[in-house]
Amino acid sequence: MEKVDHLGIAVASLDETLPFYTEKLGLRLIAIEEVPSEQVRVAFLDASNIKLELLEPMSQESAVAKFVEKRGQGLHHIAFGVQNINERLLEMKEQGIRMIHETPKSGAGGAQVAFMHPKSTCGVLFELCDKSKGKGE
Ligand code: ZN
Repeated sequence: MEKVDHLGIAVASLDETLPFYTEKLGLRLIAIEEVPSEQVRVAFLDASNIKLELLEPMSQESAVAKFVEKRGQGLHHIAFGVQNINERLLEMKEQGIRMIHETPKSGAGGAQVAFMHPKSTCGVLFELCDKSKGKGE
């Protein structure tokens, strides 16, 4: 893994939590975006060396809705920035790491993402996040 790209934080409501991050912590809001595949609305905040990704469920079917219901708001996942996500996925598989997503899917910001199963990672939900494609470069 090359670096941590962002931390995912589950929130019940972006409208209610954003002022804490932007006004009290003074972080810059980069963008708000809907990710229909995950049924979440996300807000990215710039914390200089890392980004924070606030995740608000758009429906009760969203995994984030279930997370908030069960465990409350809080730290949800850690995302590693990677290149060649398909190769990384093969390596994970070779090492016997179970993936929630066997193939990459579209995440926020045009990134290709895949999550590792927490049962294979000592209890932490890790995301692989590949932004090398989809930027038209
Ligand atoms: Zn994420």
